[in-house]
Amino acid sequence: MIRTRFAPSPTGYLHIGGVRTALYSWLYAKKQGGEFTLRIEDTDLERSTEESVNAILEGMSWLGLDYDHGPIYQTHRFERYKEVIQQLFDKGLAYYCYATPEELDVMREAQKAAGEKPRYDGRYRDFTGEPPTGIDPVIRFKNPIDGDVVIDDLVKGQVVINNKELDDLIIARPDGTPTYNFTVVVDDWDMGMTHVIRGDDHLNNTPRQINLYKAIGAEVPKFAHIPMVLGEDGSRLSKRHGAVSVLQYKEQGFLPEALLNYLVRLGWSYGDQEVFSIDEMVKYFDLDSVNSSPSTFDTAKLTWINEQHIKNAPAEHLATHLSPFVAQLGCDLTQGPALSDVANLLRDRAKTLVEMAQGSVYFYRDFEEFEADAAKKHLRPVAEEALRLVLEKLSALQEWNAEAIHNEINATAEALEVGMGKVGMPLRVAITGGGQSPAIDATAELIGKERCMMRLNMALD
Ligand code: GLU
Repeated sequence: MIRTRFAPSPTGYLHIGGVRTALYSWLYAKKQGGEFTLRIEDTDLERSTEESVNAILEGMSWLGLDYDHGPIYQTHRFERYKEVIQQLFDKGLAYYCYATPEELDVMREAQKAAGEKPRYDGRYRDFTGEPPTGIDPVIRFKNPIDGDVVIDDLVKGQVVINNKELDDLIIARPDGTPTYNFTVVVDDWDMGMTHVIRGDDHLNNTPRQINLYKAIGAEVPKFAHIPMVLGEDGSRLSKRHGAVSVLQYKEQGFLPEALLNYLVRLGWSYGDQEVFSIDEMVKYFDLDSVNSSPSTFDTAKLTWINEQHIKNAPAEHLATHLSPFVAQLGCDLTQGPALSDVANLLRDRAKTLVEMAQGSVYFYRDFEEFEADAAKKHLRPVAEEALRLVLEKLSALQEWNAEAIHNEINATAEALEVGMGKVGMPLRVAITGGGQSPAIDATAELIGKERCMMRLNMALD
């Protein structure tokens, strides 16, 4: 069975680049009927925070990236890591290193001065003497000295590293806590990972990890290193480019499936198709078509994708995501039409849910004033006659629906011998408070007769 994972370190927000890695791993597992695990890599006790864990969980849940296993916390697995370290000691593949940071600095300076690349020189690798006192040693892994490590990366192709370029990795810190490169290997082994899909900032770690897999007797998984996401100026996407946390996109009114659609296309293609449902992503996604060079984040494109998903989403789904935004604007959703009907009416006019919510307010909340410019142009005194007549006709309506409303607007225009707009626009400003709305007949239907009458009277007051 295919098993993949997303393994974020909870040291900040859930970054948009991380979400793309999570998505690729999730899609790959889903596509093959495999399993997906969420693992929280929180062994760096100083930098990991609960707030960040919560942001990861909330982000995954909002995006609908569900997992078959997890969240698994590495801090709950310290005993297991100790056990495997002991196994490495037993095999003669681990050792204590007593070199002090100062001593290592001197070593690196000397290497640099000799024109060499700084690397740990293995000075405690075969140490058998009396250990120096007062030093809490780190534990290092005995990396093989000869031979090559070959990575057949599913995205990057074959990468070959000579063991001479690698030094003896620290697998436990002086306080005994295990390090990332070690825990990741133990976990991916214990959790049966078949594919490790992650950012290519980890490619440097992979040869060391492959050596560790071999040392602990584990099968080496397949690797796929996904290129970075860049900002529009070509540098790695960061805060200075604007929003990078997934929850910021939620707040800005993006639908989760639109963000996923945008991210799946960022570095992967399927012909020239741009808009994908989640089901289509699962069906078509493949690592073979993932681009091996970095991609540039483009907010305008994301916004366009969002617009397409807003146009096509089922009304109930749209309403579920829209409702917190409308509530935030002080609207009581029980005091007006079903939000799904409002969403249906507004879906062709909004790029984000924030915009859509702004357009929903007059369905739920009465206003005290009309927009000044629109009122001056379309209400009293200019349109007094049209407003009075359309009020009269609409108030006599028995059936309050768009078609009947349309007919009365038409009849008013005919009676006054003016164009439909000379009735429709004043009516729009009167019942919505401003000059922008979807088709006025459908809008009036949803606002409801009682409210329309009240607002028309207010416009004539
Ligand atoms: N915890 C690592 C990170 O957040 C990812 C580890 C991995 O995917 O192997 O960068």
